Amino acid sequence: MDPFEEKRRRMVERLKEELGISDKVAKAMLKVPRHLFVPKAYEREAYVDTPLPIGFGQTISAPHMVAIMCDLLDLKEGEKVLEVGGGSGYHAAVVAEIVGKKGKVIAIERIPELAERAKEVLRLLGYDNVKIVVGDGTKGYPEEAPYDKIYVTASAPDIPKPLIEQLKPGGRMVIPIGRYEQHLYVVDKDESGKIHKRVWGPVRFVPLVGEYGFKEWE
Ligand code: SAM
Repeated sequence: MDPFEEKRRRMVERLKEELGISDKVAKAMLKVPRHLFVPKAYEREAYVDTPLPIGFGQTISAPHMVAIMCDLLDLKEGEKVLEVGGGSGYHAAVVAEIVGKKGKVIAIERIPELAERAKEVLRLLGYDNVKIVVGDGTKGYPEEAPYDKIYVTASAPDIPKPLIEQLKPGGRMVIPIGRYEQHLYVVDKDESGKIHKRVWGPVRFVPLVGEYGFKEWE
């Protein structure tokens, strides 16, 4: 019996009422035990709608942001999805629930210790449709490209060119852009390869650090 089941159910109910998140995303979030993706000291706050520290100056995103990004991506069963900024592995697990066993999530994380921890939790929970990779996600992950969907969980100076290249025609990317003032963008690549961008709204993320991101000292 999961002692956090009731708290998780209430959190998802609130997200449904306040944001109108889709049933698909709600169902996935009901299944993923967020308390196992945060350090033990924060376990009891895991179902409060807030980001929490996961070490190395990084955070697990707030549940409402995970839900919003999943809905904006319009995820479907069987899709191949790239996550840039795997962090704790929680967001990847939610996406993995939606794309199912026929789909696949590749999550890149630049901090090896976080990637190791995420890998272990996902393994224990049986998410064999998630692959965690250590590296600079601003360069994407060409080995598995192209992707139906790409999402970035750290804020970039601009849309990294490799990510545009690795998105399938007809695919979609969701990415925060900006340093101090940040906005979440929905980026569509049409069948002819043309890019269409729209702003969803203001957001707050840690910086995306890498070759096509911010430099470490910035
Ligand atoms: N999605 C994560 C989760 O569910 O826990 C939260 C991610 S946290 C808000 C952003 C993550 O992006 C951090 O773990 C950070 O180390 C990572 N990051 C920053 N720049 C990166 C890069 N160039 N490549 C890969 N990961 C990066």
